[in-house]
Amino acid sequence: MKITVTVIKADVGGIGGHTRPSDGLLNAVRNIIKPQVRKDEKGLLIDSYIGYCGDDIHIVMTHTKGINNSAIHGLAWRAFEAATKVAKNEGLYGAGQDLLKDSFSGNVKGMGPGVAEMTFEERPNEAFTIYAADKTEPGAFNYPFYRMFVDTLTNTGLIINKNLARGVRINVMDVEKGKIAQLEMWQDKPTLEAALMYPGRYVVSSVYTKDNQPILSASTDRLHNIAGKYVGKDDPICIIRTQKDFPATEEAGAAFGNPHLVAGNTRGSHHMPLMPVKINSPASINYAIPIVSALVFSMHNGRLVGPVDGFGSVDWDYIRTIAVKRALAIRSQGFVHPATLVPDELEYAEGYRARMSVLWSKMRPIPGSKGSQNKQQKPQPQKQQTRPQHSQKQTQKAKPTIPKTKKPSTPRKSKPVETKTSTEQKPKPVTESK
Ligand code: MG
Ligand code: MG
Repeated sequence: MKITVTVIKADVGGIGGHTRPSDGLLNAVRNIIKPQVRKDEKGLLIDSYIGYCGDDIHIVMTHTKGINNSAIHGLAWRAFEAATKVAKNEGLYGAGQDLLKDSFSGNVKGMGPGVAEMTFEERPNEAFTIYAADKTEPGAFNYPFYRMFVDTLTNTGLIINKNLARGVRINVMDVEKGKIAQLEMWQDKPTLEAALMYPGRYVVSSVYTKDNQPILSASTDRLHNIAGKYVGKDDPICIIRTQKDFPATEEAGAAFGNPHLVAGNTRGSHHMPLMPVKINSPASINYAIPIVSALVFSMHNGRLVGPVDGFGSVDWDYIRTIAVKRALAIRSQGFVHPATLVPDELEYAEGYRARMSVLWSKMRPIPGSKGSQNKQQKPQPQKQQTRPQHSQKQTQKAKPTIPKTKKPSTPRKSKPVETKTSTEQKPKPVTESK
């Protein structure tokens, strides 16, 4: 039986800041989704699950409509619209912040919510895990994905599982250009590694076996390019099928056991470690440490069992402690890069630009330098490095945006909209072209 698993997520408001959705908001989503769970052959969905990670609500839906289905996407959109109304009535922070368009147009891609979905022939004992993150960006998953599918020191299954040992196909999206490359393991391993050096620019969007079974689908939405201005985090979500021909559930989970530094956090302008948390955890008010939760499901005929809380067991408390220590370590250097992002990546670049304009106004030629001999010459503002505004970014788009060797280009402000895709799909350079 071919089943589609669709997970759509959005931040439509948080209590007292970017913490978590209110119960009223979650109920509003449930009230739209649950009546659509099939009864007596009526209803769009076979099953559903609703939860949250930080201030992002995720809606997991199983159905037979295939990916990019307007009825399924429209249902999620209506649920988030209903939740937005509640969020406004409750005075929640950032009410409706991820709904960037006024009306639904057939597909939530390019409208703000993040989407990961895949259609596959359901195995007799289908198993998959959904990883939902908050306070970071889609490229935050690059490192754990690499550990799952490429790093044999992390995943012994890549050696002793016959199917995985053949290598996988990894689709990497250039989120600035809105293009996608299919890389074959193992021959393209160093090319993949070069791409994954810069998670703000190159993002793993999907993974397939060599015989084209889908294993992984991740959201790669870029809110900033949709809205043209800073509107919030591009918090990612992904579905990973596990067991048998795919990584074991615990091989996938263990890939999150080394909390690496990712972009995001407070004001979307810092680097901090990605901390595994229990399902339905609020975001931390300790400088908004990036978080990821794991929802482990079984599925049969599209009916879900679970989720088990993948990062809920006691060993993950130790990993959380490591993450907190790393978070405190990088925060100990305050505003000094790499605790903060480079100007290109700052989400609050307007404020930064305001400060820098004062600095530039005070700039004078260095005494004894060529410029100092011309006393009439006024100091010129240096070329702004930041790329905070969409319009500014557009002026730069003609140039190839090769990542800088010194500073990774993680353009959290200006990401193109390309969403998750399968190998067959051509990337849509939605906002890059505008
Ligand atoms: Mg928020
Ligand atoms: Mg969020």
